[in-house]
Amino acid sequence: MSITLDQVTKRYQGSPVVNDVSLEVGEGEFYVLLGPSGSGKSTLLRAIAGLTGVDHGRIALHGNDVTHVSARQRGVGLVFQNYALFRHMTVGENIEFALKVRRMKSAERRKELLRLVALEGMDDRLPTQLSGGQQQRVAVARALAHKPPVLLLDEPFGALDAKIREELRRTIRQVQRELKITTVLVTHDQEEAFAMADRIGVMNLGRLLESGKPDELYARPATRFVATFLGAANLLLARQTEQGIRFGAAPVNARRVEKLEGGREQEVVAVLRPEEVELAPTRDNLRTNFIANGIVEEQVFTGAFERMRVRMADGAANAHIASPNANGGSNGSAALLDVTRTQHEQRLFPLSLGQSVAIGVRRIHVLPTPLSSYTAYGSDEASCERLSQHPLLVELASRMKTRIIKRNEAPLVACDAPASAPVSGVAVIAAGQKTADQLQWLLQNGAGEVLVLPAHSSPPQKVLIHWADDSARRSTLAVAASLLRHVAAEAVYVGILPEGSGGESQRPFGVRTLLDARSEAQAVHGLEMRTELRFGAAADELQRQLTESQDPMLILGVSDPAQLRGTFGTLFTSGATYPMMIVYRPSKDSEGAVE
Ligand code: ADP
Ligand code: MG
Repeated sequence: MSITLDQVTKRYQGSPVVNDVSLEVGEGEFYVLLGPSGSGKSTLLRAIAGLTGVDHGRIALHGNDVTHVSARQRGVGLVFQNYALFRHMTVGENIEFALKVRRMKSAERRKELLRLVALEGMDDRLPTQLSGGQQQRVAVARALAHKPPVLLLDEPFGALDAKIREELRRTIRQVQRELKITTVLVTHDQEEAFAMADRIGVMNLGRLLESGKPDELYARPATRFVATFLGAANLLLARQTEQGIRFGAAPVNARRVEKLEGGREQEVVAVLRPEEVELAPTRDNLRTNFIANGIVEEQVFTGAFERMRVRMADGAANAHIASPNANGGSNGSAALLDVTRTQHEQRLFPLSLGQSVAIGVRRIHVLPTPLSSYTAYGSDEASCERLSQHPLLVELASRMKTRIIKRNEAPLVACDAPASAPVSGVAVIAAGQKTADQLQWLLQNGAGEVLVLPAHSSPPQKVLIHWADDSARRSTLAVAASLLRHVAAEAVYVGILPEGSGGESQRPFGVRTLLDARSEAQAVHGLEMRTELRFGAAADELQRQLTESQDPMLILGVSDPAQLRGTFGTLFTSGATYPMMIVYRPSKDSEGAVE
């Protein structure tokens, strides 16, 4: 490997701006770090270059650990957005300066470098006599002068106009191929990432969410963020049943990442790309899976493609949670489906505004996230309303581009009658004296995830993860991975062994469990987390760590509702002061007891 990052974390004012990033960039690979402004890309690049230290983790270049090596000794080639050339020096002098600093022979090398970046014969020009694109070529040549081990480029095209940008892209790609130099390029522009990358890594909120080949990330994203950042995507809520994925009443073809967990029917989030939608006059004319009827509401011709928005009718409208141009939520625009059609499709079935259509889908991709939507539970209208406006809940739902439903359930008080409707998605309750009873009631009524919110809580900075036993491990990790993509918090899995000699002798076993948990989180759920081993009673240890942490949150997995009263009872008796996410999947043995 050319560049290896292992759980690299960089904090500013206590908050992680680069959060547990692990990454391997291969020899000669062109890797693009893509993400919105502020997601931590530049900070990560500076950490690789050694221009900033890290708070946690390791960095290796070509197998050598350079975590504590100075920027100068790492010697990576760097190019930034603003050209950073010496204004009073000619092109030739700018490059020679870089060579002299490294005591390298200059004349031949200079010629060679200028040829590489297609600036032959421009040695005597001053930067002011060059276009922006040409200045950036000089910057690239200079960065390569001393034959650096890797080349790092931070938004190098930012200040250039479209045509120049494309030329420079091509030059950089040619140079990179010719030299076979390992390169990391940072950009916020997905088109640029697609145009250049061997592999793309998408960052948000300091985390590296997913890493992969451009076409694979586009076709099979694992996260909402990547799905919507790498191009237009409609997000839909569907149901996963024994018979497959259902959208409203209609079954659809979908690629499901995981099997139906424990035979449990559940709500899932599906990605529908605008180009995967088929429109036809009637349902019978569709060649693909029918999902709903609709009406054309907006239409734009953009040359090669026709873009339109179709309002879905019937119950299908409820399934729709976000389209590329809507802000998500359950407002009116959410039932609008973004559709693009080729000219060929337009000729076969010309459409005009207001026309009725049958909507079919060629392909739907189901995300592996277990967090689909939120339902705020209260025992009266006012408490539902209050809870649905909880800042943390609103923030989570908005980042997840999903909706918050309100459900007024009187049994929340008595906790003995059945729910008026089955619980789907994440149930949300306000923390209080009756939290344990309410949890029990929700779990018995089919909830798999319950978010418990104290009236006042800041966005979490540290998320502790723990599960009662192995049967809750997988789902707890899945929930943790999904949640942690939407908050800027550090994640720590806490393994707890009984205190005393019995516990100590189990230390090797405990350590191995931690390592396994970390690998599983990484491999199966794309989550990087740190691990800690503690000894003592589980609830006490968790309580201790929660109290010690700044703005903590707890994700707790159980396989039997009784564990919430038994082992973890003390966490709920006093009314928690931090948010908690309870994950419940019945183990094979306890399943019968709950049903
Ligand atoms: P990107 O390059 O993806 O736009 P940056 O890595 O520049 O993101 O910044 C990530 C976050 O870290 C931002 O919120 C930014 O304000 C913060 N940040 C970056 N550098 C510093 C610094 N030296 N001091 C404090 N905060 C910083
Ligand atoms: Mg930046």
